[in-house]
Amino acid sequence: MDVEKIMLDLEKKHPGEVEYLQAVREVLESIEEVYNENPQFQSAGIVERLIEPDRVLTFKVPWVDDNGKVHVNLGYRVQFNNAIGPYKGGLRFHPSVNLSILKFLGFEQIFKNSLTTLPMGGGKGGSDFNPKGKSNTEIMRFCQSFMLELWKLIGPETDVPAGDIGVGAREIGYLYGMYKKLAREHTGVLTGKGVNWGGSLIRPEATGFGTVYFANEILKNKGMDFKGKTVTVSGFGNVAWGAVQKVNELGGKVVTLSGPDGYVYDPEGITGEKVDYMLELRASNQDIVKPYSYEFPNAQFFENKHPWEVKCDVALPCATQNELNKEDAEHLVNSGCICVAEGANMPSTPEAIEVLQEAKVLFAPGKAVNAGGVAVSGLEMTQNSSKLNWSADEVDARLHKIMADIHSACVKHGTDAEGYVNYVKGANVAGFLKVANSMLDLGVV
Ligand code: NDP
Repeated sequence: MDVEKIMLDLEKKHPGEVEYLQAVREVLESIEEVYNENPQFQSAGIVERLIEPDRVLTFKVPWVDDNGKVHVNLGYRVQFNNAIGPYKGGLRFHPSVNLSILKFLGFEQIFKNSLTTLPMGGGKGGSDFNPKGKSNTEIMRFCQSFMLELWKLIGPETDVPAGDIGVGAREIGYLYGMYKKLAREHTGVLTGKGVNWGGSLIRPEATGFGTVYFANEILKNKGMDFKGKTVTVSGFGNVAWGAVQKVNELGGKVVTLSGPDGYVYDPEGITGEKVDYMLELRASNQDIVKPYSYEFPNAQFFENKHPWEVKCDVALPCATQNELNKEDAEHLVNSGCICVAEGANMPSTPEAIEVLQEAKVLFAPGKAVNAGGVAVSGLEMTQNSSKLNWSADEVDARLHKIMADIHSACVKHGTDAEGYVNYVKGANVAGFLKVANSMLDLGVV
């Protein structure tokens, strides 16, 4: 495989789609060796077919705010690859959303979903709509207008969206309500649903819990665990919340949280009532990080800074893409960080990953680490189609096992001659092989 040539061609076709090109390059570089060992992949054009989405759908989303003003946002669904199951991937509502970001996320989702061992293909969608500061009724009107277009493209056996940044339980409720009305059926077409109407227990916590289960496997593999470890976390959203809870349960101490405007450092640890306080702030749709430092006097707010300058044993970036850069990675290495596990999707820049791997920090990519979210979404689909609800313990046990299995797959495919586990390579190769072999079986379609 000629990675440079493939990338050049892709750049020509999709100029300026930085995040998408970055994600494709990372995967191609990781799978190059295994690809070249299997000439059947080359002759079936697997890579050329895999790096382009099956289809991209764009639509306008008009909606009216509480003052009667009309707004028009863009809506997207990227159906990337359905070789191993229906398209599956979240919806992101954020002003930064564009095609490049959704294609990067959809592409990553193919391998992530493959790693879970569940039958789910890769997709992603969303809108440049900003839910921040909007009233409930505005959010509802937006979601309804969005679904008016989306519903024709999705289905429980076709494409099953879920939440992501800016899309939590409330938005899934409004989206599903509209879908149900239009389709006149109650099916598992979205995941992350409320438990009263088809949702799975543990889904809200799943990505964060799974992130920590995976990080714990990394530590276990080196004879360590979370007990007594200092942990830095970024963000305070769906993922970060579950991660903080689970680190606390396993005996670690989380000392940071962050938002786009900076981070808070709480040397005493973010536990109990402090987590509850953050959840309250989050639910009230406010600027969530800074007020923490007013409420808890030992905490400090650092404006426009990243939490990676704080000394830690384990770092869990759980906010957004490219939030951990080369300089941040150098701070982490110099402060003796053992492990960086990505709760978010692609939070580390390629330069940061290079620094961490060079220093033999145990670095694991989002597509493996945060796969717990989509894994429990897959379990939600299974519960919906069998019309059963599993207990929280049952879902959690399955999640735990899936994360341990993903870790084993990464170790199998990513361990080098010196015993260092390159989790990026391991995750990409393991995820790729299942999809590539399925595509071979299915012919050129
Ligand atoms: P949320 O919107 O719930 O949370 C995102 C958090 O990150 C918020 O606290 C947000 O602050 C903060 N944030 C946003 N931009 C920045 C920035 N530039 N620097 C620091 N903090 C920032 O999203 P999720 O928790 O759902 O998603 C987080 C990441 O995890 C994303 O990469 C997502 O794709 C990934 N992911 C999510 C899954 C899920 O199940 N939800 C599953 C797998 C991956 P503020 O609210 O103030 O903007």
